[in-house]
Formats: sequence, C-alpha cells, structure tokens
Amino acid sequence: MFIKPKRVKNVPPYLFDEINKKKQYLLDQGVNIIDLGIGCPDLPTPQHIVDRLIEEMKDQKNFKYPGYSGCLELRKAVAQFYKNRFNVDLDPETEILALIGSKEGIAHFITASIDPGDAVLLPDPGYPIYRTATYLANGIPYSMPLLKENGFLPDFTSIPVQEVEKAKLMFLNYPGNPTAAVADLAFFQEAVDFAQRNHMVIAHDAAYQMVTFNEYTAPSILQVEGAKEIAVEFGSLSKTYSMTGWRIGYAVGNKEALQSLSVVKGNMDTSQFLPIQKAAVTALVSEQHCVKEYNHIYRERMEGMLAALREIGIESDTPKGSFFIWASVPKGYNSSEFATKVLEEAGVIVTPGVAFGEYGEGYFRISLSVPTERLYEAIHRIKTKITITV
Ligand SMILES: *Cc1c(COP(=O)(O)O)cnc(C)c1O
Repeated sequence: MFIKPKRVKNVPPYLFDEINKKKQYLLDQGVNIIDLGIGCPDLPTPQHIVDRLIEEMKDQKNFKYPGYSGCLELRKAVAQFYKNRFNVDLDPETEILALIGSKEGIAHFITASIDPGDAVLLPDPGYPIYRTATYLANGIPYSMPLLKENGFLPDFTSIPVQEVEKAKLMFLNYPGNPTAAVADLAFFQEAVDFAQRNHMVIAHDAAYQMVTFNEYTAPSILQVEGAKEIAVEFGSLSKTYSMTGWRIGYAVGNKEALQSLSVVKGNMDTSQFLPIQKAAVTALVSEQHCVKEYNHIYRERMEGMLAALREIGIESDTPKGSFFIWASVPKGYNSSEFATKVLEEAGVIVTPGVAFGEYGEGYFRISLSVPTERLYEAIHRIKTKITITV
C-alpha cells in the first residue's frame, strides 16, 4: 500500500483543481458558466512569436538536449531586456537562468535556498505555490499579512522577531496576484535593507511586471542599489505574451543563489525545448506593440467590470497592473459564501479571497483574462442578477 510522506500530505489540494471540479459538475448539469476564476490569458500568442517557433522547428540541431542554464541567446535577450527596460546590467553567463515557466523556478528556488526547518516569509494573500513548495522543501511558511491600509504591502516592522530570525527567504510579488497592488522603488529599497539586515534572500515574483495600465510601469527590484547581493527576480512570458502553455520564464539576480538553483535544476530537469527558448528571444527583443495592445484590452475590461461592481455597491481600488480585480466582499458574507452566491445567482465563477490565505478573507478575485464578450455577459449578469441586501 502506498503511504504518502508527510511532506506531500501537508500540501493542501491545488485550489484550482477544486474549483475546476465544481465548474465541471455545473457544466455537466447544462449551466452556462462564465469562469472569472483562473488567470490564464484568453488572447492569442502574438504571431511573430509563433512564426519564430515554427522556423526553429525546421532545424534538427534544435532537437538535442539544450544546455542546463538555457541557451545563451535567450540569456542574452533577457540581459538586453533588463538593460533597455530597467537600466540594469546582468551577466548572461552567471546572473540569468532560463526556467520551464517561472512556477518551476520558484518552487525549485525554495529547495535551493533553505535547509529543512528554515522558515520562508510569504505574502498572505498570495500565490499558493510559495506555501506549498515550502512544505515540499520541508520548510516552515510564515504569513506576512497584506493589509489594505498598507496598500497590500507587507509591514516588515510587524513581523515577530522569532520569525525574522528563522527566515532564510522572503517572497514578494508586485504587481500582485491576487491583490493587483503595486510596489514602488522606495518599497523595494526598504525590503532589500530589511533582508540584508536579517540575512535573508528575497525572491521577487515579477510575473505581471509587464502587465500594467496607462502611464504606469512596474519597477524591477534589481533597480535598487545592492539588490543583486540578496535578490533574485522571477520573470515569465506566460502572462505578458499569452504563452502560459509554452512554459518559459527566467530567473535573474544574485549569482550564488542562481548557482544553487542551477544545481537543483540540473538534477531535476534539462531546460526547455530550444525552439521555445528561441521564440522567447523574439518575444523579448521585438517591438512591444503587442504588449501595449493587450494591456489596453485588459484595462478596458477592468474599467467595465469596476463600473458594474460599483453599481451593485462593491468597492475595489483601480488596479495599475495585473489582470485581476481584488474587491471587498459585501457585508454579511464571508468570501466563500459570496463566491457561492455569485455562482448560484449569476453563473459566474469568482475566486474567494480565503483561497489565497487567511488574510484574503473579506475579498474576492475577478480575473479579466476571458474573452471580452464573455466578460461583458458576466458584467450584465452581475448587474441584473445579484442583489445585495445590507
Ligand atoms: C501565473 C503566475 C506565475 C507562473 O507563471 P508561469 O511562468 O506560467 O509558471 C507565477 N506567479 C504568479 C503570481 C502568477 O500569477
């Protein structure tokens, strides 16, 4: 008989599996469900990126094992991208690693940077992988509450001393999932100072760094002087270029930390298929028109949805980045009750905030990554079918 090790038993079921099961059940009953639950872009991967993939697929040389750290062409493209966008210099040989999607890198980075029993500080509410991958590395997750009154940034001064002492690693994520909050360079400076004082590594998950609205551009933590001594930033092509299924991302920053990550990865995987890495080069070094266009679409959807929520008395900040709306649950409901109400009354799936951690209670997340007509149908249903009695 198979007995699960505690490490695996500790892992709560992946949230979206549960929601998908509920959705499938309702679909089987013939309910017309609109899923604003999951964050997977509906927009197509831009054609110039697909064309490069097809071109590279014709070359047998690309069918061999790629190098462990990713091909040099991709690492150079990431360096060029950081130079152009952030004026940050990176050495493609030692300060950049290709990843099989940033989730892979984030999960392995925990194993690469802590010993069993060490603690990891993570944002709550936050992307669930930080916590689950900490369990898998036999680490102890500590929540840093992200509170509205602090702009959904962690307050380093309120973290208990024992937790600070035990922690070897801290996760940050801006623009944030699920909160859609952003951080400025002054905050990153504060985070770097805190981590240096307390001998921690910072892992900044920058999956939505390029998904921003209007004049706002998101900074890189590596723009902070000295950040490279303790920080690694995780980038992803998934959201920016609608490439979730391609599985390609990168980690940049502190070279000792990346060296450790490459030891873990070198014994677990053998990097991504070369044609995909080369198509990622095209994505990063080409004109970024497609990114502007997609961000514009997300912004229009976001404004439509915010207006609908306001009409039924639900408030939310206007996001500057990410494709999520993080809104308050109306009085009289908890987040699960409210998500169930929205599903039952409007046939719309939203994610209850508590799914992202205990401090997510009181909120729900709407994803804007569904086709615009479906989103407007959801808006219509929310306005006409949901009544909130205060
Ligand atoms: C989607 C997402 C990721 C994972 O992206 P991949 O590169 O596709 O693995 C990482 N972090 C956050 C916060 C995300 O929302």
